[in-house]
Amino acid sequence: MLRAVIKINGIVQGVGFRPFINKLVKNFNLKGWVKNTSLGVELEVEGEEIHIKNFIDEIINNPPKLAFIEDLKYEFFKELKYYKGFEIIKSQGKEDKFTFVSPDVCICDDCLSELFDKENRRYLYPFINCTNCGPRFTIIKDVPYDRDKTTMKEFEMCHQCLSEYLDIDDRRYHAQPNCCKECGPKVYFIDKNKEKFDKGIEKAIEYLKDGKIIAIKGIGGFHVACDAKNKESVLKLRQRKGRDEKPFALMMRDIDVVENYCYLDTEEKSILESYKRPIVLLKKRNNLLDYISENKWLGVMLPYTPLHYLIMRELDVLVMTSGNIHDVPIVYKNDEAISELWDIVDGFLIHDRDIHVRCDDSIVKVFEGKEYFIRRSRGYVPFPIRYESRNKILACGAEQKGSFALSKNGFVFLSQHIGELRNAETYKHYIEQIEHFKKLFDIDVEKIVCDMHPDYLSTHYAKEISKNQKLPLYMVQHHHAHMASCMADNKLKGEVIGIIWDGTGYGLDGKIWGGEFLIGDYRGFKRVATIRDIGLPGGERAIKDVYRIKYSLLIDTFGEIPQEFVTTDDIDVINMMINKDFNTVKASSIGRLFDGVASIMGIKDRVSYEGQAAILLETKALECEEHYNYHLYNENEDILKIDWRPIIEDIVKDITSGKNIEIIASSFMNTLVKSAVDIVLRLRNAHNIDTIVISGGVFQNIYLLSKLVQNLRNKNFKVYYHNRVSANDEGIALGQLAIAEDGGGILCV
Ligand code: ZN
Ligand code: ZN
Ligand code: FE
Repeated sequence: MLRAVIKINGIVQGVGFRPFINKLVKNFNLKGWVKNTSLGVELEVEGEEIHIKNFIDEIINNPPKLAFIEDLKYEFFKELKYYKGFEIIKSQGKEDKFTFVSPDVCICDDCLSELFDKENRRYLYPFINCTNCGPRFTIIKDVPYDRDKTTMKEFEMCHQCLSEYLDIDDRRYHAQPNCCKECGPKVYFIDKNKEKFDKGIEKAIEYLKDGKIIAIKGIGGFHVACDAKNKESVLKLRQRKGRDEKPFALMMRDIDVVENYCYLDTEEKSILESYKRPIVLLKKRNNLLDYISENKWLGVMLPYTPLHYLIMRELDVLVMTSGNIHDVPIVYKNDEAISELWDIVDGFLIHDRDIHVRCDDSIVKVFEGKEYFIRRSRGYVPFPIRYESRNKILACGAEQKGSFALSKNGFVFLSQHIGELRNAETYKHYIEQIEHFKKLFDIDVEKIVCDMHPDYLSTHYAKEISKNQKLPLYMVQHHHAHMASCMADNKLKGEVIGIIWDGTGYGLDGKIWGGEFLIGDYRGFKRVATIRDIGLPGGERAIKDVYRIKYSLLIDTFGEIPQEFVTTDDIDVINMMINKDFNTVKASSIGRLFDGVASIMGIKDRVSYEGQAAILLETKALECEEHYNYHLYNENEDILKIDWRPIIEDIVKDITSGKNIEIIASSFMNTLVKSAVDIVLRLRNAHNIDTIVISGGVFQNIYLLSKLVQNLRNKNFKVYYHNRVSANDEGIALGQLAIAEDGGGILCV
């Protein structure tokens, strides 16, 4: 007989871990206790040595579905305490502050079968949940995770629910959102006469089938929904939302329905079905839903709440777009939904369980069998990212894809998708969430880090709180942060070459960068190569009116704009701006090069959402090996530049000769890949570094990413891309944090 003390860190609270232990000790005939601690759970057991060892193996190999064991340590002792039974010791108070909070989890199979079981007391009850499923992050106001500290506090459990909750052998033991028809939240429908209907779901289905648009309250906010197969409804929604072209997300009833519209491989299927239930961008199988998405993908998710399942009984494909207008954050309160979505929808499917935290759906692509994030949010947040940090740091992120990160005890907590900070509501949400995360994870910030851009609101915020709270502030160059983000994402140390391509980032010289090759580590970097500057006539305006970039590329290449490429009547003004270098911003940005090339190719002259031109260009691409000429030159001793003018020349030649647009699109991207490989081969020779990290929003382009990865691997580089955070600006906070942790960045006084 021996006694063992076992300490387990990770996501082990609020996931049914203690009841799991309680059951397991019986199998191994062990006595002792278990309790929650600030880092996870601690337990002490007495029994035969072999039993204890098998018990530990079982914990490691078969933990509860939602648990995540970060680390398990144990120690054996000879002297026994002769425990009589096994006990769960109540945890309380301050000491328990540092605990992980589970992300929101889709309805589990057990609950799903109860939902449709006529004999079950929760038959068709839209808020059914258990220890393994249901809302978490979005209903938690504070820790430790107890019903009192969630928005379920309002609902007092009935006798039956309470007895489940207290019974350690019940699958609802300590399920904080536990409830039923008697005691739990209720769903209802409100029409445009503000009349309230108790049979909310039936009414919602009736509206949807009728081609109407409704708001549906979800986990982290409201969706706006309509029948996706009804083209007229979808067009009406586009008109009401002022969203002419941007694709909508879809919810499909099940995998069979998905397969009618999309190609689906095993990994895509399993990510689609995972409890995180992200929107997965899947390749279209046909053009049936082209009015939903103009590119080659459909963003698809499966139902994830019981309410969704009840609606989807009678509809197989719904548009489920975020309930918001433009850059305003997703609506999450009932009264706000009614006032703000009034002009968009014909009715509201609402319930009285409050959402405490806004959280949008996550969006992923599947690359090499793994999730490749476009947006890391619901289902993933606030799951921590393991990163060796000793400091408590707040990293403030970028701007258009606002996010932040906080670190403590070797973990980084990256926020959910926050959105465009330029919007006042979004900025408020950003500040509130920073405070919420600090409280949830009990983090007293010691250091702040932000982007170098003087006008980012995240920079303003960082400066302000650094001043008010007398905390040191570090500033990090945008592309260095991207590079460090990909390094930290892959747990890399030491020097790397970074290929960092994006739309816009503030450069050390005050210019716009975005086609960067960097060498460095967390502490510092050197810009070793980039692309020839692109003139943006009218600055910001050229980002939307991308034909301006077309004109600029053509003038730089040919000295004038060939007549057949003139598509607008402001040509003289633009010509003047470029030739006199008036009001023309210079950007070494691959994102802008994509925009200009797309316009030259006649794909798009004006874009209505971020990245549109590049996405459409990627959509055209097909597998081919052709490429164009490019030219590398040294502008000065230190920096190598890709001259894109030969590429433009070739593209124009191909267009004029009527070459297939698909080949032109592919050749253009192949050329970028070839030039990048050319450059890093030179860098490897000069600096003896063969580790490459790939980051930046441009690499949401999977055609480009996969070609680059393949070609670099063929040259025996060690290639890393993102897999735990987004390649775009949403992932930047992780990089900023890693840089500040290692003493990089510029200290501001
Ligand atoms: Zn469940
Ligand atoms: Zn009940
Ligand atoms: Fe960026």
